[in-house]
Amino acid sequence: MDAMIMPDNVIHKAATLLRRLEEDYPRLRFVASNRFSWHAGKQLISYSETALHNTRGEWALLHELGHALLGHTDYTSDMELLRIEIAAWDKARELSNNYRLRINEEYIQDSLDSYRDWLHVRSTCPTCHEHCLQTTRSSYRCSNCGTGWQVTQSRLCRPYRKTQKKSL
Ligand SMILES: [Zn+2]
Ligand SMILES: [Zn+2]
Repeated sequence: MDAMIMPDNVIHKAATLLRRLEEDYPRLRFVASNRFSWHAGKQLISYSETALHNTRGEWALLHELGHALLGHTDYTSDMELLRIEIAAWDKARELSNNYRLRINEEYIQDSLDSYRDWLHVRSTCPTCHEHCLQTTRSSYRCSNCGTGWQVTQSRLCRPYRKTQKKSL
């Protein structure tokens, strides 16, 4: 019987967090979707209803709320993306105290590591393997050997990562 009772309790708990956030942040819209993301233009946080049934989903929701409260819009460089991800987790950590949640620090660092790895790959010169600075949103140039290379603008496919371009 426990197996049948458990999910309801979990669902109830997640629904409570969502409801509290909706009450506490009436200017934001919370919309069920298949992923967690913050859409600055629409002032909308999308969330996965299924994922909200577990703790990680709650952390993801607070992370997106972090983006929202910090007014994150779009980023212009890979480094900036990493910076806003760090900032959103800092904010989520702060918010978690208000909702009696505790975000696992390892989970945060794992998430940030995936950005760091991504940044590392993109910023390494294909010719001499020096670390380089990004010149435009989609290109890097090596100050050591002069090699230039393009990077895609597609971002990491992590459900809680996405920030939407602000539509003015
Ligand atoms: Zn080089
Ligand atoms: Zn994020």
